[in-house]
Amino acid sequence: MTQNLFLYLMFFVSIIFSTTVIVAQQDDFKAVVINETVRNMGAEIFASAGPATIKKYLPENGAPASMSSFVLFAGDDVVLVDAGLGGSHWVKGLTDLGVKPEKIKLILLTHMHGDHIGGLLDGNNRRFPNAVVLSAKLEYDYWLPQNTKARTPKLENIKTAYGNDFSKTFEFDEQVFANTSMKIKALNAVGHTPGHTAFLVESSKSRLLIVGDLLHAAALQFPAPDICSSYDMEPKDTIASRKRILDFAVKENILIGGMHFPVPNIGTVKSNGQGSYEFFPVK
Ligand SMILES: [Zn+2]
Repeated sequence: MTQNLFLYLMFFVSIIFSTTVIVAQQDDFKAVVINETVRNMGAEIFASAGPATIKKYLPENGAPASMSSFVLFAGDDVVLVDAGLGGSHWVKGLTDLGVKPEKIKLILLTHMHGDHIGGLLDGNNRRFPNAVVLSAKLEYDYWLPQNTKARTPKLENIKTAYGNDFSKTFEFDEQVFANTSMKIKALNAVGHTPGHTAFLVESSKSRLLIVGDLLHAAALQFPAPDICSSYDMEPKDTIASRKRILDFAVKENILIGGMHFPVPNIGTVKSNGQGSYEFFPVK
């Protein structure tokens, strides 16, 4: 798994850029994506896909993808969903949005792979002095087992830097944030990691379902949702979560956004009724 994690990080260190995209805006609610990197997901990370499936769905150069996090502005509050690798481009993304680190009071983690937690630290220090970092109890307990070191040095450093502000957890279906402009509920999306979480964001006028790493190659996995990437720790659970969450998004007609979706990272999803889905990115 350590090797997987390493490959996972290296995978994105190719074309690096930083851009922010407003994905939803109304009154005092705004959702923005920070794209830290973009690149294509190649066939080599989808070993469970047969050649015919790869040929049918995966573009020759791989599926366009990104590494992204979400920033939610609601009234006076700013909530981060994931913290990227945390390189200078990610930091610039936040700065470009006018978000000072001390302004952030809440950071929600979909899971604890390195490309989702890196920005929590500035060197070995906490970047967000006033933030509580929340994760699913299942996720926290897996990566930071009691009475022993965390499973990765980065997580050990984050634990040291944030102390009690990192150890708080939520259960699935719990409301993890609410103010007069927005509320957020944590949904079970386990499989990619033991406590992988999707977040349902609701404002007075719209809903956005942030699905974390539920899919890595939109071009391949919407039409063929049984295909897992080599980064998915429990493929069977991943597939079950993927279908359950996508079915929910279809049924409720909710905009969905993913950390590795192609830019601009959000769109709507439809089912063909035979186990396949189609993704329609917002224009
Ligand atoms: Zn990821």
